[in-house]
Amino acid sequence: MESIFEYMQQFDFENLFFCQDQALDFKAVIAIHDTTLGPATGGCRMWQDYPSEMDAVEDALRLARGMTYKYAAAGVNLGGGKAVIIGDPKRKDREPVFRALGKFINRLGGKYITGEDVGTTLQDMEYIRMETEHVVTLPTYLGGAGDISPMTAYSTIRAMQACCNRVYGSDSLEGKIVAVQGLGAVGHNVVSQLHELGAQTIVCDIDSEKVAAMVDQYGAKAVETDAIYDQQCDVFCPCALGKGINDNSLSRLQCKIICGSANNVLEEERHGDILESMGFVYAPDYIANAGGTIYDTDRLGVGGVSHERGKEKVKRVYDNMMRVFEIADRDRLPTYQAADRMAEERISQIAEVKKYVDHL
Ligand code: NAD
Repeated sequence: MESIFEYMQQFDFENLFFCQDQALDFKAVIAIHDTTLGPATGGCRMWQDYPSEMDAVEDALRLARGMTYKYAAAGVNLGGGKAVIIGDPKRKDREPVFRALGKFINRLGGKYITGEDVGTTLQDMEYIRMETEHVVTLPTYLGGAGDISPMTAYSTIRAMQACCNRVYGSDSLEGKIVAVQGLGAVGHNVVSQLHELGAQTIVCDIDSEKVAAMVDQYGAKAVETDAIYDQQCDVFCPCALGKGINDNSLSRLQCKIICGSANNVLEEERHGDILESMGFVYAPDYIANAGGTIYDTDRLGVGGVSHERGKEKVKRVYDNMMRVFEIADRDRLPTYQAADRMAEERISQIAEVKKYVDHL
């Protein structure tokens, strides 16, 4: 990024806020992309390995824009925002840092709502909550939804069922073979939910204890981490880090469907085009992994967490995925582009609705 304003103009960003306190050694950026659907919402990342401050700014902007699309495509009435604290994520003196951020967020009067992200924890969110109510990811004892990863796993499964419908003409996962890469907070929940639905799993993780637990509890078949790409299966389900679909893995995959929770599954956008041309059915990452976010933010504006209501909304990820297929067919697009179009269409339609004032 050469010029901040040119970048903001290119992708139609609304605001960028810089926050600093020298005595606290605190530097942060808050980016607001689009508030058509509601307040800009998105987690707070803490990271220090940025080559330059411009890279940190660009990261905040890029991630904020990603949240706009994620909420819009998920049917949630929130806009996209993100905070980046430039600093060591292992830093010990967290209270002043996160309370300072809370103070700055509070000044925005609810136009930005923060949450947990890479490098931040639920405890950090508690510090932010001491200074502002505009924080969504909170433990249950503070009125939040608590651990949302089971719901991220559930939305991944719902998207997978929609993909099965497209490929096999049925939602059923019974007897399907799913290769799950990564058995962390989301991945192990994916394995247990798949087990309940009668699917067989092939699993890998760099942590052998996690693998052993899945073999013991659910009869999963264990393979070495790199071998996961070569497995004969129906679904490849990336739940580890991003970039799982790349030049190396593409030629090895033996599945029909790619549907997982990992963010940034495609190493580059062109890999989404290649997937399409090779006949794979790909569930765009931000459609499949929206469940945690949908569940987490469900309480906003409706007075508290309801597991039933939240889960019901997550269930609809199936419909979102089917809509992506409709748009892909209608406009002859690969699914990763169809998802973006679905989000953009919703934003422009709701902008149209919002032009009507409530009073005459
Ligand atoms: P996590 O850190 O709990 O789990 C990741 C797991 O992947 C770990 O067990 C790790 O050992 C394993 N792993 C790392 N490298 C690997 C490799 N090369 N091969 C196999 N396994 C490897 O993270 P998580 O919360 O379960 O998230 C998983 C993915 O889903 C991430 O990409 C995350 O951004 C995304 N995601 C998570 C949520 C959520 O609710 N937690 C929501 C949306 C998206």
